[in-house]
Amino acid sequence: MARIGFIGLGNMGGGMAANLAKNGHDVHAFDLNADALAKAKAAGCLPVDSAAEAADGAEAIVTMLPAGKHVAEVYDALFGVAGPTAILIDCSTIDVATAKQVADAAQAKGLAAVDAPVSGGIGAANAGTLTFMVGGSAAAFERAEPILAAMGKAVIHAGANGAGQAAKICNNMILGATMIATCEAFVLADKLGLDAQAFYDIASVSSGQSWSMTSYAPLPGIGPDTPADHDYQGGFAAALMLKDLRLAMAAAQDVGADTPMGAKAAERYEAFAEAGQGGLDFSAIIRTLQGNA
Ligand code: NAD
Repeated sequence: MARIGFIGLGNMGGGMAANLAKNGHDVHAFDLNADALAKAKAAGCLPVDSAAEAADGAEAIVTMLPAGKHVAEVYDALFGVAGPTAILIDCSTIDVATAKQVADAAQAKGLAAVDAPVSGGIGAANAGTLTFMVGGSAAAFERAEPILAAMGKAVIHAGANGAGQAAKICNNMILGATMIATCEAFVLADKLGLDAQAFYDIASVSSGQSWSMTSYAPLPGIGPDTPADHDYQGGFAAALMLKDLRLAMAAAQDVGADTPMGAKAAERYEAFAEAGQGGLDFSAIIRTLQGNA
């Protein structure tokens, strides 16, 4: 079992660090927030006073932070403390450019690094059923894999450093766009006098099928139990969908990719968040189409 430094014990990181401890790892955990540290302690981690202290003597250092600037800042604090055999595993969702920069900076210090963003929300983080998409060398992936496996149900090597973040934002760009398309179809079907259940039964086994339709239907009482059945509470916050769409749009601009549907989805989620609805599940965007946002 490994000695692991874990930095960023928020909604996601708290459950992930707890699962590492539950799997017998020796987890030295740090967060700026005292409540988060206390929860990690109760879950079997050893709370420490700084990121550097968490990294000192660690075989692996896992970060789960809000954005690229936090990861760059924490990595700066780790360099010089992390031992030469430590592997840096960043599970945060951050921009591809920063993911590559921090990996390059780590490698320049002789440290192996991977980006390993996740699919799955707080429930999956608590249950240890996340999917990790990993960017880094084959050798670094091999070292990160058993640690990530203790927090997830699938660990997939996406390619070189930055490829994990690329996979994450491309996946979520599909999700944002298909969710809006699915919502539009439900609203149009209704206005055409089509019963929502009948439309679901047809589209979910026809070519309009998608995860947004079949597994995450945006109307209450249709398909499996989803946030729509709970007044759009819980689930994947629209503000986080907007964050991922913005990352996708920035990356598309950097590489000159034409992403009109992603851009439209970003625009719709931006307006939704600006209207104060960012805390609702992202499928609540259907309300803007029903005209009762
Ligand atoms: P969060 O805001 O709940 O947690 C982030 C934690 O990082 C906070 O506890 C904060 O105090 C801590 N932190 C910030 N700067 C720090 C620093 N310099 N040193 C130590 N601790 C610091 O966020 P979250 O929901 O846990 O999300 C974390 C990451 O996971 C984000 O990149 C997010 O996009 C991604 N993500 C979230 C979800 C989700 O459903 N919440 C799903 C998939 C991916």
